[in-house]
Amino acid sequence: MSSAHYQALEPQTSDEDNEDIEQRRPKQQQHHHYHLRNHSGSTTTACSLATPVMARKGRRRCLLPLVGGVLFFIAFCYLTLSVDTRLALGLGGGSDDSDDEGSHNDLDRNNFRPLNETVHICSESYEDRRQFMQDKPNSEYGQLPVIYFVTPTYPRREQIPELTRLAHTLLHVPRLHWLVADDQQKCNDFIDTLLNRFGIPFTHMVSPMPAKFRFADPAPRGVANRRAALRWLRQHNLTNGVLYFGDDDNTYDLRLFSEIRKTQRVSMFPVGLIADYAISGPVVRKGKVVAFLDSWVAGRRWPVDMAGFAVSLEYMAQYPNVNMPYKPGYEEDLFLRSINVRMDEIEPRGNNCTEVLVWHTQTKSKKLGVVRLESKYLDDRSNLGALLRNLELMGVATITESESRTAQISKNGKAKPHSVILS
Ligand code: UDP
Ligand code: MN
Repeated sequence: MSSAHYQALEPQTSDEDNEDIEQRRPKQQQHHHYHLRNHSGSTTTACSLATPVMARKGRRRCLLPLVGGVLFFIAFCYLTLSVDTRLALGLGGGSDDSDDEGSHNDLDRNNFRPLNETVHICSESYEDRRQFMQDKPNSEYGQLPVIYFVTPTYPRREQIPELTRLAHTLLHVPRLHWLVADDQQKCNDFIDTLLNRFGIPFTHMVSPMPAKFRFADPAPRGVANRRAALRWLRQHNLTNGVLYFGDDDNTYDLRLFSEIRKTQRVSMFPVGLIADYAISGPVVRKGKVVAFLDSWVAGRRWPVDMAGFAVSLEYMAQYPNVNMPYKPGYEEDLFLRSINVRMDEIEPRGNNCTEVLVWHTQTKSKKLGVVRLESKYLDDRSNLGALLRNLELMGVATITESESRTAQISKNGKAKPHSVILS
């Protein structure tokens, strides 16, 4: 097991971004420099008095403008920082249609403090033990670029079922390395065993969300883990292959993988079941991406879902500062800005973005199951001990002797005392 600590990286800002944002910024914000100069001029006059009495009075008089000046300066700095820089720092803003943005402000204020991010590699395997995929022997796929499929995941009772279902999709995909980044402190051995069983090359790591974001609403879901995967890619100096962010609960059409594998820079495609339109994706004219269809714009230059794009690692390697910010709602936009891609370079996929090859399905989340059963019945006289202990390991249910109502065990349509069945 290895571990690493690292500092947060900020997304790069291109001049083009700034120009664009300068145009978008409301007029009153563009003239603060002038006001500030006027203000500091009058402060200097009030503070240069000669006698002690005058000085005392003057001090009071000079204190007020001084405090005002400082406050004004802070406001000035805030308003004149480029919107990209503010977003990267987590200060918010950058939108013409700011209706949904106000809710991010509490989180934003916290984002100044240094981040304490950790990554541990739990286990990994570079061996592809699958023999056949899509009716062909594995060896026939040897020349294809590798897809690095990054899956952020977190402990809840649906975690193992989601990963199992996703694994069964990925089993059909040749030349894929699955980066499973778990949002928790400790490695879950059950996940190691699970991943090993499939024979798909994988890296299992844990990278918990920094504590200060945990109670934020909204929280930056899956960001610490995706950042950990980005760091893993960087550390391995990978300049060949394709990066794709595939959440654990989405639904992937197998054709998606052949579409993204040919990515030169950045490819994009529609994602079904996103927000009000139940779709988010590029608008394509004459084979080129010209705009986006998505019901939540909020100043995003790239109003796309995490599952709606793939990036060539060769292209990404040119941008060592690539990263994803802890900024709920803006992760995709700022990640894509950090690799400086231009709209006319985007490669539309899925038959010019007419097909849906990935769906933003969501699994209903419920509290852990509770099974009340005396521990004396958890031995090998029945299957229940092993079964329930497995469920505990999977984070699905807990066994209790005292909480909740006694578990019902029935026969012929009638609940029976545990002693009757299990003694
Ligand atoms: N996720 C995570 N930590 C969290 C919440 C979510 O790592 O605290 C992962 C989750 O497993 C998924 C991705 O981040 O792969 C996006 O989360 P979710 O599917 O809950 O978000 P939504 O689909 O609502 O955007
Ligand atoms: Mn999801």
